[in-house]
Amino acid sequence: MGIMRISEIDHSKIKEQTVIGRYVNMSHITPFLKRISVDFLVENIGGSALGETIKSITLGDGEFRILFWSQMHGNESTTTKAVLDLLNFLKDGGSIANEILSKCTLKIIPILNPDGARAYTRSNANDIDLNRDAQNRSQPESVVLRKVYDAYKPHYCFNLHGQRTIFNVAGSRKPATVSFLAPAYNPERSISETRALSMKLIVAMNQLLQSQIPGQIGRYDDGFNENCVGDAFQMLDTPTILFEAGHAPRDYQREETRRYLFYAMLQALAVISDDTVGDYDQQAYFEIPENGKQFVDVLIKNVACIDSEQKEGTAMVVRYQEQLQKDKVVFVPQIEYVESTEVIFGHLEYDCLNTKDLGLLKKSELSNYLQIS
Ligand SMILES: [Zn+2]
Repeated sequence: MGIMRISEIDHSKIKEQTVIGRYVNMSHITPFLKRISVDFLVENIGGSALGETIKSITLGDGEFRILFWSQMHGNESTTTKAVLDLLNFLKDGGSIANEILSKCTLKIIPILNPDGARAYTRSNANDIDLNRDAQNRSQPESVVLRKVYDAYKPHYCFNLHGQRTIFNVAGSRKPATVSFLAPAYNPERSISETRALSMKLIVAMNQLLQSQIPGQIGRYDDGFNENCVGDAFQMLDTPTILFEAGHAPRDYQREETRRYLFYAMLQALAVISDDTVGDYDQQAYFEIPENGKQFVDVLIKNVACIDSEQKEGTAMVVRYQEQLQKDKVVFVPQIEYVESTEVIFGHLEYDCLNTKDLGLLKKSELSNYLQIS
């Protein structure tokens, strides 16, 4: 199927326009699920801690079974939006879509943690991080996922997440707009045949994404933790891939990253459908740089020039804290002063030594300036 054909797909034509922005819960996606249920099987697969229904969508009739789950962390909605776009693409037919649906069967849980999604929290309603509950399965959402996994016996699992704006691609000042991980299945982080398949699929996706966002793809830390769902499924011999939707410049609503996640998932499905996963070189996985943690949202250097209370060499860093206010996620700036000897990058950077920047930095204007929509 080739990278060219995937890259040529016009994402704007299949983008699900009814679900946008950062705040996505079951209410937002219910009209979409109703609509898609004409073409694909939408099922209730269980309930959350607060009794919200967890749903899955099943489509295709091919031999390769792939299980996706998104919003296991309730405030990580970007991959959910990408999954809706993917469903639109697959519903619309076309040769690539038909080929995928004839070779693969997909089961997608768009929101595994509906309570967290509604409250815009990482954890579920009992304040448990579901991605640390793979062994205990103390939470209803963890039981639901495991039940689906046991019954469906997937050949591949796509574990869909979002990451904060702090991540750069190590050794560069580029943001980690998309990061991947082939989770370890033991503390030695050995490479089994199963884990190698995860790596190869990531290499295939990385190849495609490098043509769209060169240098903005990172590799997530592979420290082993059996309580993480990806590691747990990898232990059970299912190639599992962690997808992390990250930040692109000025994309706080994550509408751009959504597009890259769509292409990445489609590329993975195309490679699985072609049965060419084995053709990719797993060593290339290690050539993807790791994630660094060097970004702040706004970096203002040499603030002593405009603020006599600050020491020379001090920088102001701004990190946005996401807060749900009246059904909207707002980005509240948290300000801190640091020694600028630390290596940090800002998604926006100003230097007070540069007089052109000074106008922006009058204290009275700062809070206005830091507002983002
Ligand atoms: Zn997550």
